[in-house]
Amino acid sequence: MTVHQNLIAGEWTGANGVENINPSDTNEVVGLYAQASVDDTKAAIAAAKAAFPAWSRSGIWERHVILKKAGDEIMARKDELGALLAREEGKTLPEAIGETIRASQIFEFFAGEALRLAGEVVPSVRPNIGVEITREGLGVIGIITPWNFPIAIPAWKIAPALCYGNTVVFKPAELVPACSWAIVDILHRAGLPKGVLNLVMGKGSVVGQTILDSPDVAGITFTGSTGTGKRVAAASVEHNRKFQLEMGGKNPMVVLDDADLTVAVEAAANSGFFSTGQRCTASSRLIVTEGIHDKFVAALTEKLKTLVVDNALKAGTHIGPVVDERQLKTDIDYIEIGKTEGAKLAFGGEVISRDTPGFYLQPTLFTEATNQMRISREEIFGPVVSVIRVKDYDEALATANDTPFGLSSGIATTSLKHATHFKRNSEAGMVMVNLPTAGVDFHVPFGGRKGSSYGPREQGKYAAEFYTTVKTAYTLA
Ligand code: NDP
Repeated sequence: MTVHQNLIAGEWTGANGVENINPSDTNEVVGLYAQASVDDTKAAIAAAKAAFPAWSRSGIWERHVILKKAGDEIMARKDELGALLAREEGKTLPEAIGETIRASQIFEFFAGEALRLAGEVVPSVRPNIGVEITREGLGVIGIITPWNFPIAIPAWKIAPALCYGNTVVFKPAELVPACSWAIVDILHRAGLPKGVLNLVMGKGSVVGQTILDSPDVAGITFTGSTGTGKRVAAASVEHNRKFQLEMGGKNPMVVLDDADLTVAVEAAANSGFFSTGQRCTASSRLIVTEGIHDKFVAALTEKLKTLVVDNALKAGTHIGPVVDERQLKTDIDYIEIGKTEGAKLAFGGEVISRDTPGFYLQPTLFTEATNQMRISREEIFGPVVSVIRVKDYDEALATANDTPFGLSSGIATTSLKHATHFKRNSEAGMVMVNLPTAGVDFHVPFGGRKGSSYGPREQGKYAAEFYTTVKTAYTLA
């Protein structure tokens, strides 16, 4: 098997390939991927630093063409790249193709943004002086990504970084190097100058830590766990650099007595269990008012019986495997914790086998949970959801907001009054009405509050807040 190498200073390099294993079929090796060392990572940072002056002054048409070409190629190869994604991460083929399309759309969006770069010219408070306000790229951006969106998250960080004139050192999660390698290959062939985009695959403790420790990295954009996010923050403060963190969630979905039952069940099943519950925007707390509680639990349980857990590539699969053995153990541990805490296991909870050996877990639903239980407070990141019964809307809102996290939230209701109040008073960065808590557009801001996020929002026009620094220039006329 050929080894997929790292890209450093425009050269593919690295020999020792580590196996990327398919979680739907652990006998299958998706590919071999090189591991960067500390020295490789330092070389990548040096290359990005050397490439920055020219790239930051490159024409916007050049940036547009490269980003557009990348978006077009990703779209043209959506089925192949989607299958690669499904094989390395385990989300179902339709979900994986959907994520690939989204990556393409993100490149198209920032190809457009490159042509819309602009500043402001304003009069000075003093006579005969003009003031120009412009945005400039930061320098070398360290991009560190998690395993759960192997193509969309790299796309929504790399595309704006390049659009605004930054150079990049990119470290994908060790579990999912294949999609990252593919998009770096596409961008490289699209004509990026040497050193503008560098790929360093390998361990967080080696490659990631070297990026954190480098004084030459001007900004770090990170998505992943709260623990690693705190390390990024501490190291960035040390180096006086800009940083942006997207971390975990414990997203609530409120279901009110007046909800359309079908809408509520569809939204809850999607939020909690699709993509195997491995979305930072997944809803793992269903907060249900008592008038609809029993009907809702019965209907959701019926729905769960119809969901097929199987190989991600198989037609008809609704839920693919858990990403790896370690995450499966975490999920199982939380199921045990839920039982011990006194929640009632209403559905699922069992590891299951299929034709191909993989990490298959039934969608798992707890009822009679309280918001104080660990299963309601800590992020599980698996297909494990608990239902919390509440008296009325006021208690539902208070319970929804009673969490250290604040990424997304949802409400199922037919009441305009409650929907409006919830949108205004939910302490989350993204609020959904009669929709799943997961599933967001690519052209509008993404991000959360409280323990979920730090720094400017990602995606859409708001991405410029992180990837640029503002300059105010004064000229005597
Ligand atoms: P991790 O924090 O373990 O890993 C995220 C990235 O950080 C990986 O690339 C990892 O490398 C790297 N890393 C690990 N240690 C270090 C280090 N010391 N220095 C620098 N980088 C390091 O998270 P997971 O990949 O396990 O992702 C799951 C978590 O991410 C969940 O908690 C989830 O909620 C959160 N998440 C949040 C999202 C959001 O937008 N809010 C979106 C997606 C996920 P490696 O894996 O190779 O060791």
